[in-house]
Amino acid sequence: MNRLWFQLSLAFLVVTLVGVGLVAFLAGARTDSNFRKFLAQQETEQLQDLADQLAAYYQDNSSWDGIQVGWSYGGFPRGGIHQRGRFKGDVLIADANGYVVYAQDGRMTGTVLDAALRAQAIPIVANGQTVGYAVFRTPQGMTMPLQNSAQQFFEQLRGTLVIAGLLAGMLSIALGIGLSRTLSAPLANLATAAHRFAARDWQQRVPVRGAHEVAEVATAFNRMADDLERQETTRRNMIADIAHELRTPLAVMQGNLHAMLDQVYPLDRSEIATLYDETRLLARLVDDLRELALADAGQLQLNAQSVKLDDVLQNAAANFSIAADAQNVRVTVSGLQSLPRVRADSDRVAQVLRNLLANALRHTPEGGTITLGAQPQAEFVRVTVRDTGEGIAPQDVPHVFERFYRADKSRTRTTGGTGLGLAIAKAWVEAMGGRIGVESEAGRGSEFWFTLPSE
Ligand code: ADP
Repeated sequence: MNRLWFQLSLAFLVVTLVGVGLVAFLAGARTDSNFRKFLAQQETEQLQDLADQLAAYYQDNSSWDGIQVGWSYGGFPRGGIHQRGRFKGDVLIADANGYVVYAQDGRMTGTVLDAALRAQAIPIVANGQTVGYAVFRTPQGMTMPLQNSAQQFFEQLRGTLVIAGLLAGMLSIALGIGLSRTLSAPLANLATAAHRFAARDWQQRVPVRGAHEVAEVATAFNRMADDLERQETTRRNMIADIAHELRTPLAVMQGNLHAMLDQVYPLDRSEIATLYDETRLLARLVDDLRELALADAGQLQLNAQSVKLDDVLQNAAANFSIAADAQNVRVTVSGLQSLPRVRADSDRVAQVLRNLLANALRHTPEGGTITLGAQPQAEFVRVTVRDTGEGIAPQDVPHVFERFYRADKSRTRTTGGTGLGLAIAKAWVEAMGGRIGVESEAGRGSEFWFTLPSE
């Protein structure tokens, strides 16, 4: 039986029985020995009483003469002790030298008390002098069997303890069942919710109640369920986004090819160039997705080295100037003096800069300016790409680094982006140990920044 109620009840039962047993044992042992002590003490007092009476006999007669015939234990003239029915063994009375002057059965009269008897002997004192000794030999030595009443008392105690044990045992079973119900109800809820969750019912949550530990498990389950639900939503959105992103260039290619086959479009170089551009876009999308998949798996390959950042920034600006000139946008570089070297992969830094500059150019109208800068900080170098473009609305700012997020949905792919550029930039910067962010104001431009650890 591995049910909780059974195990709890069993545990309670064992504890209860051990407790009752221990009480019974200790009570029995202690009461028994105290009782015996009490009886022995009474015994001694009574013997002393007898010794006093014998002393009085000696005083009256000035010797022990005639005691053997004048006194018998069973018929002791003043009576009390025998009537109490306690002394069933021999009674010996010896004079001051140890010669037995009285023996109940007469056999030992005239002998001398041996050491063992002397040790048990009670001195008989008259006028301050020891005039003799009295020895009372019970069949069990000085230890008397317990009286009936004492025996009865012990039996009653035993009976009471057995009843107490039975009652406590029943109580412990009831308690075990009650407690296991309270404990197991939230756990059973949790198990049901977990089963349902495993069957893809993502809304399953459990109420947080019960003992602290059980409530902790419920909280952990709910947190895990939140995470998994979020991941599932992201996964679904991602698949939908990928399908959407692939469908558009494929539809364009299919349409154009069909038109060419139907001789609606001429089979000339410019049409083929358009198709080629679409395949390049598709290839970029696939490459970007692969890079993000590697980032998710923590497998981005970095070639981290000591990098002279101003060179990388200058190169990026120079490579971009032709495209910027074509759009009549100015690219400037500022604050690159006395930059510390950074620990990074220069190719990846260049890739991040390319993404940020391409975005800046895409969102900056003619006559605008893009400024590339860098500032050394405590343990990092902060690189900034500032533009004087359209900026980003506050509600979009927290999302621009998400995959396939586009602030302006209508522009979608027409501007040439895959919607993954910033997500990839973020993955690379974080892989190099830095952080990335943006400050932007709609209508006044944006400043994208990222940090790299300085050496
Ligand atoms: P995309 O391929 O659409 O550019 P990104 O991940 O690079 O994808 O950027 C995500 C979105 O962030 C863009 O669609 C755009 O709305 C916004 N964005 C990025 N850079 C800028 C910028 N410099 N100015 C304004 N908006 C920007």
